[in-house]
Amino acid sequence: MPDCIFCKIVAREIPSQLVYEDTDVVAFNDQNPRAPLHALVVPRRHIARLADLDDAALAGKLALAATKVAKDAGHGESFRLVVNNGAGSGQSVFHLHFHVLGGRPFSWPPG
Ligand code: AMP
Repeated sequence: MPDCIFCKIVAREIPSQLVYEDTDVVAFNDQNPRAPLHALVVPRRHIARLADLDDAALAGKLALAATKVAKDAGHGESFRLVVNNGAGSGQSVFHLHFHVLGGRPFSWPPG
């Protein structure tokens, strides 16, 4: 997707701090971290929103990659995954991403 910033990160056309990659999934640090660990786990192929994801295997790979990122950062016992789906939920980049947050307490319910 030509104008997608996360597609450009996946293609290495713009820089990022990669923390994980495999054949289907890439993870990199968020540029505006909201916690000591704040990484984004994305599919290599462009999928705009979670609601557009119809590949169960890829969904599992994203979840497993997110868990690995948290564990590798030393937060495997306490971390949070967030997926904003749609502008009304706070999604601002329309390439599916799991936020992986860790390293501080989290309140519930989220804001
Ligand atoms: P969301 O609001 O759920 O769509 O989250 C988008 C996230 O992408 C935000 O947390 C941004 O800080 C992050 N972000 C946007 N551009 C970049 C970038 N070039 N590198 C790393 N993170 C980014």
